[in-house]
Amino acid sequence: MVDVLIVSPEIKTMTDSAFIIDCCWCKAKVAAKQLGSATHQGSDPDCGEPFGHRLFIGKCPTCGCLLAGESDQIRFQDFDADEDRWTDIVRVFPKPPKRFNSYRIPRQVTESLAEAERSLQANANTAACVMLGRALEAMCRDVLNAHDAIPGEPVPTKKIMLGEGIKRLRELKVIDQRLYDWSQELQAFRNIAAHPDDISITREDAEDLQTFGYAITEYIYDLADRYEEFKARIARRKKD
Ligand SMILES: [Zn+2]
Repeated sequence: MVDVLIVSPEIKTMTDSAFIIDCCWCKAKVAAKQLGSATHQGSDPDCGEPFGHRLFIGKCPTCGCLLAGESDQIRFQDFDADEDRWTDIVRVFPKPPKRFNSYRIPRQVTESLAEAERSLQANANTAACVMLGRALEAMCRDVLNAHDAIPGEPVPTKKIMLGEGIKRLRELKVIDQRLYDWSQELQAFRNIAAHPDDISITREDAEDLQTFGYAITEYIYDLADRYEEFKARIARRKKD
């Protein structure tokens, strides 16, 4: 496996170069003064496909806070393009993207939440709300289709809509009244965001909705898994 770790000379020389990143305190894209970077490039030993990953550290020119971001290589010179291309830099410090522990969370949920985070960092608040609504809708389908499954038969793939979904999650006591209220707010903003009316959603509101979206995901998957593990451990202890 070709595996190269290049430490950028900027770390030693602290040149005046800059990189564009979202500052979570200024709530804006800033040209951070670059203090260092490191690149990890190589190729997959099995399929031979190249990969590239880069980390940047720097300082916000407005508030002075330290910022770190990451970027992935998406085009490779002499492999699939005339020149290398990298994704926009996504902030990983401070306020790193949220991570969940449960293996049960469907891909549609995690991908939608990740896209919402990227949208927020780009100040695309309306797009972020659409993605948060999509995550919640995917959660409803996952939980309710599993609930509606007939034993011995494949799990149905019914396209349950968001409004109906959150109502049923409340009826089945999968979520409590507070999470239901938050879900309704998320749905309302998702509906506003999905239609071409003359509205604007503030970053503050979109960030609060993101916090609700994370709390609901955590409650339905991570905390439920943790509680099951806890119960199993107590039961084992009693048996012993
Ligand atoms: Zn700042």
